[in-house]
Amino acid sequence: MELLWIQRLTCCGNTHSLLSSDKAELIFEEFNLLFHPSFSLSSEEEAVNEVLKKGKLEVLVLEGAVKKDDERIKKLCEIADYVVAVGNCAVYGNVPALGKENISGLQYRFKEKGGLLGKEFRSKKGYPVINLSGCPANPEWITGTLLKIKRGKLELDELGRPRDYYGSLTHWGCSRNEFFEWKVEAKELGKKKGCLFYHFGCRGPMTHASCNTILWNGVNSKTRAGTPCFGCTEYDFPRENLWETRQYAGIPAELPLGVSKRGYIMLSGVAKMFAPERLKDED
Ligand code: SF4
Repeated sequence: MELLWIQRLTCCGNTHSLLSSDKAELIFEEFNLLFHPSFSLSSEEEAVNEVLKKGKLEVLVLEGAVKKDDERIKKLCEIADYVVAVGNCAVYGNVPALGKENISGLQYRFKEKGGLLGKEFRSKKGYPVINLSGCPANPEWITGTLLKIKRGKLELDELGRPRDYYGSLTHWGCSRNEFFEWKVEAKELGKKKGCLFYHFGCRGPMTHASCNTILWNGVNSKTRAGTPCFGCTEYDFPRENLWETRQYAGIPAELPLGVSKRGYIMLSGVAKMFAPERLKDED
């Protein structure tokens, strides 16, 4: 299967994510890589001209946000069987699109559907843009999605994200869940104990990502390392004050998905009161 990887407005973080993975070689084994800015000797211009001349492309991967008048990217998307947007810039616009109306992701600009390709875009095989959000995306999500495309086993959610990787929350599988339940807060960043939701801005309970069930390189995640989930797979990333929980009268301004304010107040008060002493020990 032929794969063309193009970059636009990007820090190359998704390429770095992929290269730091022991699965990166799969891309070379399973795909005929027509071009990648970090691996190819030819120029992007030559590679793209060649593909456009042929009028056929199996997989296009775009890394980075795009300008809304980027006709070359549009043409590539029109002839591709599958279009994959990798990283939050390619999906939602992210940092490059902040305050710049003419910059977007491929099929979204933050929450708004449309982007460069428009709401109704479908690739040759009938898929919307396959969105691998994240800043960057976990390398397993990149390699896994490309392999699912090759094997014809792709299932997407309503935002075009593969369900296997974005169908759960970062909160699932976090090693701090017991602390969350008993409302035992971390005393400082970088420690093993305590939950980071109550003061340190953790967005695990409202972020669709599998960072704690598919660990990064099989080893770690932000919350395991003692820093909060920043919600980098969602359309409203980046946001200000990443290490702080906005609160009103001691209640987090944003509650875990599906939890009512009343339920939160009742349960968290009781939980805090009866929290086991062993959870309160210092690291
Ligand atoms: S640190 Fe974040 S992800 Fe982990 S239990 Fe607390 S809120 Fe959930």
